[in-house]
Amino acid sequence: MTIGMSNNNTLIVGSIGLDTIETISDRKESILGGSATYATIAAGKSSDVHLVGIIGDDFPPSGMKIFKEATVDLSNLEQKKGKTFSWGGRYAKDWDNRQTLFTELGVFKEFDPVLKQQNKEVPIIFLANIHPVLQLSVLDQCTKRKFVIIDTMNLWIDTEREKLKEVISSCDVLLINEFEAEQFTRRKNHDDQGTVLQALGPQNIIVKCGSKGAKLYAGHQLDTIGVFPIKNVIDPTGAGDAFGGGIAASLANGETMIESIINGSALASLTIEGFGIDTVYNASVDEIEKRKEHLRTTLNS
Ligand code: AMP
Repeated sequence: MTIGMSNNNTLIVGSIGLDTIETISDRKESILGGSATYATIAAGKSSDVHLVGIIGDDFPPSGMKIFKEATVDLSNLEQKKGKTFSWGGRYAKDWDNRQTLFTELGVFKEFDPVLKQQNKEVPIIFLANIHPVLQLSVLDQCTKRKFVIIDTMNLWIDTEREKLKEVISSCDVLLINEFEAEQFTRRKNHDDQGTVLQALGPQNIIVKCGSKGAKLYAGHQLDTIGVFPIKNVIDPTGAGDAFGGGIAASLANGETMIESIINGSALASLTIEGFGIDTVYNASVDEIEKRKEHLRTTLNS
């Protein structure tokens, strides 16, 4: 079944930040990060990305160079006087526990995008994790939207439940991790979670289960996709965003939902193999294809 569009353009909306990441063996300060950044780099491997975001006047030229390479349209990348959004995270040994050390919104406080005409017309939209009110405001401006993918986080489930419900009702693909799915639906059983979320509107619910892979609830069908095995995880930051960007790009290329998840998973596996954007940014088409081949063998196995 082909459900994506064929014109290959994706609109990516989310945070652009400077991250400080601490793992048990290393620490990196002020490296390029943010949900839209990871999604853009992943989607830019196989689609024409229109990036919507905000940066401060401290944003490094090296970051701008990366965006110029990974996108076709930066007309909605706003630069304002002030500090770029910054976030610090610390990982425990098992990677599952991530502690937020700080979140400094900077110019992100003023983020209220007004889309340029060409960006309003992009049919495939990935709303990476940002405040649901902002997600709704962008969606309202997208006059030719054909396929909307959204991601969220536990914070919005706690604090903006009703607005988040509105966003979920307006999307075609919901990305949610297994903990958030339980938190939102107040159900423990995975299939019940899928049913509750589908009842809100989206035809496709993708539950991200970390190292166990992902589940796709579409209609009455449940499919499972495994992971590409990684020997040495370096930094899991942004894996979910790269996953979403990869899904958006494949849908823009007219691929099926399953193939899109496989592309997203391949890009997520590359993201966690290096600090920040490094490995996914430098990944070759051949390496991505090799990982997709492996991931195809994990379908429903
Ligand atoms: P993930 O690992 O997929 O949760 O995404 C990590 C990225 O999200 C980091 O690069 C952060 O800069 C960014 N981030 C962290 N907190 C927020 C927030 N409250 N809103 C938007 N982006 C955030």
